[in-house]
Amino acid sequence: MVMNKIQVDAAWLEQVTVDVSVVTDAVREIADQARALKTLLDDARTRELNVRLVHNRWETSLGVCCSHCRDMQGNLVSWPCETIEALGVEDE
Ligand SMILES: [Zn+2]
Repeated sequence: MVMNKIQVDAAWLEQVTVDVSVVTDAVREIADQARALKTLLDDARTRELNVRLVHNRWETSLGVCCSHCRDMQGNLVSWPCETIEALGVEDE
């Protein structure tokens, strides 16, 4: 027996032969899932952007506040507000 070589004969080939349609179906399924995930990701990014467009850094005489958020008494809320902190504060 010679090491590092594979004995290839008809019986061995029969074992390793796969139905190409099975592989093709699997690749199509993975591609479909990837497209669905990209759609979800794009949607999530759009929603995040829409939230960020509402909550803006606003310099006031009282300090830097969120242009949208107010506390229970209707007072301005310091920047970054809880919403922006939850999304992750980006470079300002
Ligand atoms: Zn806010």
